[in-house]
Amino acid sequence: MVIKTVFIDRDGTIGGDGHFMAIHQFEPYPGSVAAIRSLRMAGLQVFALTNQTKIAAGQLDEAALRISLLEMGCSDAFICPHAENAGCPCRKPKTGLIAQAHLRYRFANRDAVIVGDSYLADMQCAINAGILGIHVATGRGDAGYQEVAGSFVECASLADAATWILAQQGNGK
Ligand SMILES: [Zn+2]
Repeated sequence: MVIKTVFIDRDGTIGGDGHFMAIHQFEPYPGSVAAIRSLRMAGLQVFALTNQTKIAAGQLDEAALRISLLEMGCSDAFICPHAENAGCPCRKPKTGLIAQAHLRYRFANRDAVIVGDSYLADMQCAINAGILGIHVATGRGDAGYQEVAGSFVECASLADAATWILAQQGNGK
């Protein structure tokens, strides 16, 4: 498998506690930023993939969030800014953000992965999109595990996931 495109959830995957944190409070986990940069250095596209209901609630600025994700090394960010009950097509586990990425970039779902801590949102989104999911043990608990069990790769952290991804390319050291 040669992976060319990596979608990465923010809260509970890059850092934080699995729930929303304001931009100035958000701390990447040790190794997260280095992991993103190692994927970029290997020539992969790295896209943040995040639900942020606080944007709809007026408590978070989407442009500032985007900039913060680019500063952490992501090549682009796909953000659902809508409320949980808005019925939008882009809130994970729906696949609207993946569709947005396809409008902007050339990639095949079979050459992509979704890295995330949430079974309900991230791993289910991966199934819905036909993309390999990589679950990380940072962040949230076990909700939704039964529905997605056996469908994904398990890694301890985003740093571990990047190592796994690069090993698939024959670039792992
Ligand atoms: Zn949305």
